[in-house]
Amino acid sequence: MNMILLGAPGAGKGTQAELLAQRLSIPAISTGNMLRDAMANGSELGKQVRTYMDGGLLVPDELILSIVADRVAQPDCSNGFILDGVPRTLAQAEALDQKGIGIDHVVSLEIDDDVIERRMTGRRVCSHCGSSYHIDAHPPKTAGICDQCGGELAVRKDDAPETVRRRLEIYHQSTEPLKDYYARSGKLRILDGSQSIEDVQQSILKAIGDLV
Ligand code: AMP
Repeated sequence: MNMILLGAPGAGKGTQAELLAQRLSIPAISTGNMLRDAMANGSELGKQVRTYMDGGLLVPDELILSIVADRVAQPDCSNGFILDGVPRTLAQAEALDQKGIGIDHVVSLEIDDDVIERRMTGRRVCSHCGSSYHIDAHPPKTAGICDQCGGELAVRKDDAPETVRRRLEIYHQSTEPLKDYYARSGKLRILDGSQSIEDVQQSILKAIGDLV
């Protein structure tokens, strides 16, 4: 069960990936979280990617492909994985194919840009484990504190309104064409990402054949 969650920033990929990971007992792999961890650790990778991430720009494909190839080769991915936020360019999608990283399902969560812009202002992310919340739609049990690990919740720097608009433009330009790429191989399912978190989850499970 190797799957990709496609969708604009703020479409709910991270939240859905975490729920699916629990349900299917396979890891959710978020390149955004891996890169934020690298920045928090002050690693060489973190230093290389900071300017791109803070500005809402895409990190170069080579860096992304090397961290993803390493991650999916880990033993916990042997029964499958959920990719959240990758691939984001045609070059990344083609490289996954070339590296023999097979994909069974691709689900695209669709939602209008203006709804996304409103959603992003309420997003909070755990500064420790990367779990995502929304102050209205998916609040933590205790305000400002992560349910998973007790870490402090913070607003992402790239969720500032101008940066969100830039990220949406980049999504439409570079990532949306991937829908055609995966539609050609019959793997793409397009779902309405504006439903409640539970309804989106049920739609995904149906789309991948986990629920009938
Ligand atoms: P996300 O958490 O998925 O919204 O990603 C946050 C930021 O990380 C993006 O705006 C990019 O700067 C970078 N990033 C994450 N995944 C990728 C990717 N697959 N390709 C290029 N940049 C990425």
